[in-house]
Formats: sequence, structure tokens, C-alpha cells
Amino acid sequence: MKILVTGGLGFIGSHTVVELQNEGFEVVVIDDLSNSSLQVLDGITAITGVRPYFEKLDLKIKNDVKAFFKNHNDLAGVIHFAASKAVGESVNEPLMYYENNINTLVYVLQEMANLDKQNFIFSSSCTVYGQADELPITENAPVKPAESPYGNTKQIGEEIIKDTCKVQEKLNCIALRYFNPIGAHPSAEIGELPIGVPQNLVPFITQTAIGIREQLSVFGGDYPTPDGTCIRDYIHVVDLAKAHVVALQRLLSGKNDSNFEFFNLGTGKGSSVLEAIQSFEKVSGKKLNYKIADRREGDVISAYADTNKANEVLGWKTELTLDDAMASAWKWEKKIRNK
Ligand code: NAD
Repeated sequence: MKILVTGGLGFIGSHTVVELQNEGFEVVVIDDLSNSSLQVLDGITAITGVRPYFEKLDLKIKNDVKAFFKNHNDLAGVIHFAASKAVGESVNEPLMYYENNINTLVYVLQEMANLDKQNFIFSSSCTVYGQADELPITENAPVKPAESPYGNTKQIGEEIIKDTCKVQEKLNCIALRYFNPIGAHPSAEIGELPIGVPQNLVPFITQTAIGIREQLSVFGGDYPTPDGTCIRDYIHVVDLAKAHVVALQRLLSGKNDSNFEFFNLGTGKGSSVLEAIQSFEKVSGKKLNYKIADRREGDVISAYADTNKANEVLGWKTELTLDDAMASAWKWEKKIRNK
């Protein structure tokens, strides 16, 4: 079965392509390389022994999307990762974020209307919950006003899908709300490639440990948490990638309860920033240079998933630990810096 993965050379997309190919799917990748590189294809090939079909295509160009779907009208499913994802950048360039994250989604859904099989998986985020009133966060927690244009594109994206599912009978969608994806493939053939200063904790940790950054700032040490630092649900990217395959199989076999479902994807365990640092120090054997800095605007205090729905309905749960994720991220960082 032929599956389109948009943004398939990015961090989560590339790991998902690997898991899809491991399960025997034929994968077609679209990416405009705005936040990835062609070398990722070599990494995927080294792991799976199969080089996926790749087209460099900017999904903002409607006519190109149209032409692509005309040539690939035999798709059995689409997993849509392509988006811009830097929260801070989205505050400074909101229209760029709305254009890229909303237009691309609309164009893909429009073209999918012409397919026989209309199975669609959307990358959403736990940011839709903001600071939830209750922890762990279930899928029933209310969606809170977004803190950034980026976060808003995920909320609007879910609304667009919901509205489209009401009228497009053949369309079946699952939105996956990721908590905090980290780590790399254990082979160190693929991983996260942040351009510029990393926005997320783990690449900042590994870049500091390897000497690219002088010091890690932990934003806020006076939060109402056991050690005063923020709590997040760090999920290994390989576990996350596997959830996409399970979700896709659910749609392909028609087992979905409605034509628009959504699931939290996390481990269910919250870890503080200091616990994440300790895990890194343990698996790497390196002491990290960090300091406690002021709080950063927009950070929620604590967020971790209630995973019951994903565990029971999808039949998926995480298998890898925070230590596994840190070890893989460190192996990846060392590999790319030695190249
Ligand atoms: P990423 O930047 O590594 O991957 C996105 C890929 O999409 C990149 O390879 C980029 O080149 C490509 N792309 C962007 N715009 C495109 C366009 N117009 N046409 C074609 N390709 C385009 O990001 P990621 O971390 O792998 O995230 C994947 C998805 O998951 C995104 O939608 C992101 O918003 C969402 N998400 C990520 C996280 C996270 O922490 N990484 C958390 C929640 C949700």
C-alpha cells in the first residue's frame, strides 16, 4: 500500500518513514527541504534497505500539489507532518506560519477529495491544552487559547479537519497530539537536525555537552513543582513514529469509531527539566554546564499525558525510556559532529 508522508525528511517524519517501511508499506515522501536535508534519505535507506520515492515539493504551491496528487491517485493514506514549528519565530512571523501550516493542510485535503481512499493523519500538539487544569491531561481537557501563532495553527488545523470530515464522507482522519518528542533512531542514522540555536531542551543539552553551546539555561527554578523546574512528558521519537503506523492501520482497516478521532501521544510520565538533565548525565557520563535562569514567557508549568485512550483504543504504548531517548540523542549528536 502506498502512503504519502509530507515533511517526511524532518525529525518525526523520517522516523515514521522508517517504521512504515519496516511494516512493508510503500512510502512516498514530499519535503521542500526548508528544515531538513537530502542526506536524511541516505539514513532511512541505511536503516531499512529501501530508498523511499522522494519529491522535493513546496506544498504551499497549490498547482504543484494538484499535479502531485494527479500522478499519485493510488494513495492509501496520507500522513501530514509538513509544517513550520518554531514557536518563537511564529510570534515574529505569524503570516508565514499561517500560510505554511494552514494553506498546505487545505491544499492536501482538497486534493485528497479525489482519491478512492481518504485516510489522513495530522500532526497536532499538546500545546492545544495550554496549562491544563487537571493532570494527567486527557483528550477531554478543553482546548485553551493558543499562546503563539504556531500553537494556533494546530488548533485551527484540527478545526479545519473536523469541519471537512462533516461534509467529505469518504474522509477519515486521526489527529495525534504529541507531547515532547525527543531522541533519535538507535542506529544514529537519523535524528533531529535543529537549524541555528535549538528551541527544544534535548538538542540544547547535547549541543552544550559537545561544546557547541557554552551553557544551558534552565528557564525557571521556582515553579510549584518538586524541584522547581517545569515538567514535561518526553516521548522517544521511535515510539511516536510507531504510533503513526498503528493509527494508519486503524484507518485502513476501518476500525475507527468516527471519521475524526484524536489521541494524546505521550508516556504518561512527567519529568522535570532537572530530571532530564540527570538522565542525560547518567547515560553520557558527562557533567552538563547549566544554570537556573529566569522563567521564560509562555511556558506552562506542567504537562503530561493521560495515555489510556491511546493504550486502549489504539492498542499502542511507549516501550522506550527517558534514558533510552537521551542515550540515542547523544549518540546522534556525536555522530553528526564527527562527520
Ligand atoms: P521538522 O521541521 O523536523 O519536520 C517538518 C518537515 O516539513 C521538514 O522536513 C520541512 O522541511 C518540511 N516542510 C515544511 N514546510 C513544508 C512545505 N511547505 N512543503 C513541504 N515540506 C515542508 O519538524 P518535526 O519536529 O518533525 O515536526 C513534524 C510535525 O509535528 C510538524 O507538523 C510539527 O508542528 C508537529 N509537532 C512537532 C513537535 C516537536 O516537538 N517536534 C511537537 C508537536 C507537534
